[in-house]
Amino acid sequence: VTTEPGPADAFGRRAERAAALAPESQAAREPLEFAAGLYRVQGRMAQALAGRPLTGRLADDLPHLTRPLAEVRGYIAAHGPAPLAAMAGARLSRSAPDLDALQAWWHGPRSGAADYLARAELKAYAEVLAARGVAPEKGGGGCELCGGQPWIGWRRAPAPSEGALRFLGCALCGHERALGRICCPACGEEDPHKLPAFTSPRHPAVRLEACASCRRYLKSIDLTVDARVVPEVDDLVSIAMDLWAADEGWTRIEPGLAGV
Ligand SMILES: [Zn+2]
Ligand SMILES: [Zn+2]
Repeated sequence: VTTEPGPADAFGRRAERAAALAPESQAAREPLEFAAGLYRVQGRMAQALAGRPLTGRLADDLPHLTRPLAEVRGYIAAHGPAPLAAMAGARLSRSAPDLDALQAWWHGPRSGAADYLARAELKAYAEVLAARGVAPEKGGGGCELCGGQPWIGWRRAPAPSEGALRFLGCALCGHERALGRICCPACGEEDPHKLPAFTSPRHPAVRLEACASCRRYLKSIDLTVDARVVPEVDDLVSIAMDLWAADEGWTRIEPGLAGV
């Protein structure tokens, strides 16, 4: 039996971080508890795919995915925020057309804004492919490995005297990519006057890096403040900043785990 501890372990670490943060955060306790369970069920999906022959072509790989997919969907139907739970429940009851919806999502821009459920259901699959070095069919997003969308950013200073390096995390396969210059990851805008950043005294390590040209933004977390931070999980703690940004007319490049 082939074991593939990589992706399954990564989901386990994220689940632990979400479970540890949940009791500390009044505003984000529910999304963090939901995220912890979602990561566990996605980790089981990664484990279920270990040793299965996967091609990266969804239509060919679906027979291996169908059962673990149903488990992810069942979890969201039972524990997700109300609108997501209702959608997952509706899809659980009709299996055949839904595979068409998954296919349509996979062949589009692979954004959780278009279909949160499809992203959650195919995330473990994409991470297993990435860990094996199997290139999936071409997707419409910016990730060089899987065609997914960047859902979080972070900054890390290589040494105290040097400037911080910036990274983007892929929402689908988990790939990290370095961002060389200051620019909007969505549209490439480089004019600093069009790239405002928003901060909140409640979340000093968090910055919303916005772009006035495309009205989108990336949430970025400074990792030099706290080494325990797992960016895509800690993202949820400052969910109030995303709600503020939405009110102000900004759209996140790719929604985080809470769906905003
Ligand atoms: Zn990716
Ligand atoms: Zn832009």
